[in-house]
Amino acid sequence: MSKKVLVLGEVREGSLRNVSFEAIAAGKTIADGGEVVGVLIGDSVENVSAEMIQYGADRVITVEHPHLKQYTSDGFSQAFMACVDAEQPEAIVFGHTALGKDLSPKIASKLQSGLISDVTKIEGEGEDAVFIRPIYSGKAFEKVKVKEGVLFITIRPNNIAPLEKDESRTGEVSSQAVDITNLRTVIKEVVRKASEGVDLSEAKVIIAGGRGVKSEEGFKPLQELATLLGGAVGASRGACDADYCDYSLQIGQTGKVVTPDLYIACGISGAIQHLAGMSNSKIIVAINKDPEANIFKVADYGIVGDLFEVVPMLIEEFKTI
Ligand code: FAD
Repeated sequence: MSKKVLVLGEVREGSLRNVSFEAIAAGKTIADGGEVVGVLIGDSVENVSAEMIQYGADRVITVEHPHLKQYTSDGFSQAFMACVDAEQPEAIVFGHTALGKDLSPKIASKLQSGLISDVTKIEGEGEDAVFIRPIYSGKAFEKVKVKEGVLFITIRPNNIAPLEKDESRTGEVSSQAVDITNLRTVIKEVVRKASEGVDLSEAKVIIAGGRGVKSEEGFKPLQELATLLGGAVGASRGACDADYCDYSLQIGQTGKVVTPDLYIACGISGAIQHLAGMSNSKIIVAINKDPEANIFKVADYGIVGDLFEVVPMLIEEFKTI
């Protein structure tokens, strides 16, 4: 049976995050010929609605309100629930991002539905869809199927391929009125700590540094390599604890979970808590001077050596490509 699927588009600084396009692709698989409806929430989001349609949404609903300029779970849940009440969807897809992780349980509890979080793969379509998600910090995968009620999933960024962009696609864009009341949280100011550039959780290439990087200064060649490859810099908790970089860069069990195409770990030992955040990367390269380092167990390519010699060599090599 075909389904109507609501897909939340995430807008950051006026642009849609890639995970929104991946969520549309997941929505299409679930819809099985049904309708995929994009939902955009903010104070001024209509300008990106056409892009959602070009990536596969059949139509888009915008919910605009001055109180929705910054994300708050109170405001966004009221806005999203207004769309749910109006549309009565059979399925919902969010990105498994900071926003998605915060908002999805609230919506699921309002709907009294289940929630399959952090989906990395969908097997089958429509009624037969089976959702695959990592468990035990990525050491195993479970397959989940929904038998009844609203099917609600969050998808891990960088795992489900978006559909090809089709600039000729058109669809209806409508607005949903909402009265945002009883806001318990008001964001007064946003202070950015992470470095500007590619978003770590969506980066295709990550150059991560550990305690072996030894200082804040030691991260500079890693940043240079990341910039050269169009990627982002990440870190182990060891590096964050030592104050070499900001905690917003931490990857692992208590940091960000990433799945880039290429992950280069520099001076990271490969503790289980770090592996929990990166072991599903498509290609892992480890640079470590200890040949027994645990990181080599998950690496596709290992370089035993001093990162301060190896990283500059990689920079020179990539400059010639
Ligand atoms: P180390 O273990 O000290 O490793 C440094 C490595 O650098 C060594 O292998 C060394 O051989 C190598 N090295 C040194 N100099 C060089 C050089 N010049 N060139 C090449 N290699 C060099 N950790 C995380 O990363 N993320 C998490 O989310 C996380 N969550 C945690 C949650 C809990 C509850 C706990 C208890 C721990 C958590 N940790 C987490 C910490 C984790 O257990 C490790 O302590 C941490 O990952 C170690 O960081 P590291 O690999 O940078 O440092």
